[in-house]
Amino acid sequence: MSAEDDLLNENDDKEAKNSQSSENKGEGGGKKSVDDRNDGYENICAICRRTESAAGKMIKIHDGLCICSSCMQRSFDMMGSLNLTELLNGRTTPPVKNKGEGEEGNEENDDNGKNQNQPFPFSNFRIVIPHEMNRQQKIKPKKEKKRPDGENRPELKEMTLKDLPAPHKIKQKLDEHVVGQEHAKKVISVAVYNHYKRVLHEAENESETPVDNVTIEKSNMLMIGPTGSGKTYLLKTLANILNVPLAITDATSLTEAGYIGDDVESVLSKLLSNADNDVERAERGIVFIDEIDKIAKKKNAHQRDVSGESVQQGLLKLLEGAEIEVPVGATSKNAMVPMTTINTKNILFVCGGAFPDLEEIIKARLTKTSSIGFGADLKDKYDNDPDILSKVTVEDLREYGMIPEFLGRLPVVFSLRGLDVDMLKRILVEPQNAIIKQYQKLLEMDEVKLEFDDEALEEIAKLAMQKDTGARALRAILEQFMLDIMYEIPKDSMIGKVTITGDYIRGHGSPIISVRE
Ligand code: ADP
Repeated sequence: MSAEDDLLNENDDKEAKNSQSSENKGEGGGKKSVDDRNDGYENICAICRRTESAAGKMIKIHDGLCICSSCMQRSFDMMGSLNLTELLNGRTTPPVKNKGEGEEGNEENDDNGKNQNQPFPFSNFRIVIPHEMNRQQKIKPKKEKKRPDGENRPELKEMTLKDLPAPHKIKQKLDEHVVGQEHAKKVISVAVYNHYKRVLHEAENESETPVDNVTIEKSNMLMIGPTGSGKTYLLKTLANILNVPLAITDATSLTEAGYIGDDVESVLSKLLSNADNDVERAERGIVFIDEIDKIAKKKNAHQRDVSGESVQQGLLKLLEGAEIEVPVGATSKNAMVPMTTINTKNILFVCGGAFPDLEEIIKARLTKTSSIGFGADLKDKYDNDPDILSKVTVEDLREYGMIPEFLGRLPVVFSLRGLDVDMLKRILVEPQNAIIKQYQKLLEMDEVKLEFDDEALEEIAKLAMQKDTGARALRAILEQFMLDIMYEIPKDSMIGKVTITGDYIRGHGSPIISVRE
């Protein structure tokens, strides 16, 4: 606390006592301004806290607030002597020449300029002009989100065409996180590059009318791949690379407007909230609609298909590009929720799904076309083809139950491969955030080295394959084997290294534990 504050507090105490004693004394305690108050208490100066009997006649300012004439005079003096801009820039106390002097002299040197030695009574006050107040609110610095990888990439909102990473750069970044799926990564890099090139080009040349009348249409995508093959992961990584908001939603929760479930617009509400309610940022985001195969047209349906074909119809205008009214901060419209308008023209929509029986449809088509004559294929030729999904055509998808209007708005169709043992092994160790790397880091904090031999990785991958849930099974399996190790290691400070072997995973042995050197 500064000397001035001490001084002020001392004065306050004195005056408070003073006022109390005068109040206790009742009527005879001092002069009272009878015209101002009739509750038996004296007026007190809002600045120096002296009572009316001590400070003299009070000036009433607002709402029963009073200021003594000496404080009022001092405020005028100070206003005159101070540079207002200086005051607004944060300096709230005028220079005090001789600190310590004039402690008791509040009343003595009021009006004739001798009060420069007085402690400044307004140290807690700051003068704010209304328009200045508005400006201060506007320039409130935005909280900067720290990126997990520590890199400082510009948001797409500020990005120029020159900053947009080329397709091979996007793929390189994807390679750091997503194992295999080379074709999918290539397709997605090119599609995303083209999409944002169009968006950024249009933004930069907004005023110019296109000379050649060529308008580039947007390239929404349809991604087909078995569960756990990395569809969601691929998009999350992509949104992170480009620093754009991403909304992930399940098509299964969507229903036709008016029925129980979410309207298709709820997808945009999610995107808006992921973009911190910044409409401009949301309008350049990515929407991933997972489980799109679940809204396929029901075969032989006699009732209204509110969660299938109708949802596909509802999504059409979103995919195409339209101005959509979206509730802010909620997923459904109602009278209490504020609304905003989002233009979906520049939003990239990616639909994904496992399409479980699609393989049969593709196989049937392929064998039908080549089943006559000498060149005919054997019926089971495609039974064990791991890449069968890559042969998908729009006709197959139509047969599956997707309506042609919907497919027409998803011009980029590609598939992801089901994961095999080899890929699962690589997923365990290669990605930047691989599960094994996470365990190694955890044990490193206890100064213990963790290793997996090749056989162990192979066994874990085989167990994951049996579960048929793709790479998702890996974590569950590892958790199970690591539990005992994570429990025992902190017990013994002599342990320096743990090696997980294939035998341990098969249940025939225990991990090799080496003592610290
Ligand atoms: P889905 O295809 O069902 O959307 P996800 O993308 O959710 O599958 O994958 C589940 C998890 O599996 C991801 O969080 C990721 O850690 C891991 N994973 C799946 N595929 C890969 C891959 N190709 N490379 C690296 N990790 C992967």
